[in-house]
Amino acid sequence: GSDSVEGKTYVIGTDTTFAPFEFRKDGELTGIDMDILQAIAEDQGFKVEVRSLGFSAALAALSANQVDGVIAGMSITDERKEIYDFSEPYFESGVQMAVSQNDEDIKGYEDLDGKTVVAKTGSEGEAYAKSVSKEYGFKVKSLDQSATMYESVKSGSAVAVFDDYPVLAYGIAQGNGLKTVTDKVPGGSYGFAVNKGENTALLAAFNDGLAELKANGEYQKILDEYLADPS
Ligand code: GLN
Repeated sequence: GSDSVEGKTYVIGTDTTFAPFEFRKDGELTGIDMDILQAIAEDQGFKVEVRSLGFSAALAALSANQVDGVIAGMSITDERKEIYDFSEPYFESGVQMAVSQNDEDIKGYEDLDGKTVVAKTGSEGEAYAKSVSKEYGFKVKSLDQSATMYESVKSGSAVAVFDDYPVLAYGIAQGNGLKTVTDKVPGGSYGFAVNKGENTALLAAFNDGLAELKANGEYQKILDEYLADPS
């Protein structure tokens, strides 16, 4: 590890529930992001204090320097690069739409006319939904948490949710009552973010640690733990 991060404790913001990247299991925060962060911290000799703030709250906390970094399945985008510095990408993602498992009416965006969909405040899913909402005549309601978004689709207060496809796929495989009906929209890969120009040593240590984890197989082991078929 680098001298400048050795022995330091960094406060890191994350989302509340964004399985398999961060979620609670038996009360403990777990997931791919949490395991990668912890493994990098151990490899580089620093400590982390993770705050499960919610996605837009975590970004706001970062902008206000209330946290040192954010790891939250956060997509690296050109717009965000204006205000944050990102690590090397660590997971490929993008947006997709899902509806209730029992829904036989919504088969594509053209079936959304006059309807309401949900997406997460400040997310790529929200930006994408808004970018096509006029063309297809639907309304986008923004919510702060994935769990609430999925609930509103199941209860019928919204007909569809726009969220990241690895997260939708994981939830659907766990039987969350949704199904995807449209193609994936490839988007930015996930990266760890610090405030622009701040915490440069932390960012460098994250990148060094990530490279190390990829080289020694630990990175793949973490992904397999959450994503591999249980066969
Ligand atoms: N990847 C999406 C984004 O960065 C959503 C992240 C999230 O909901 N935690 O906007």
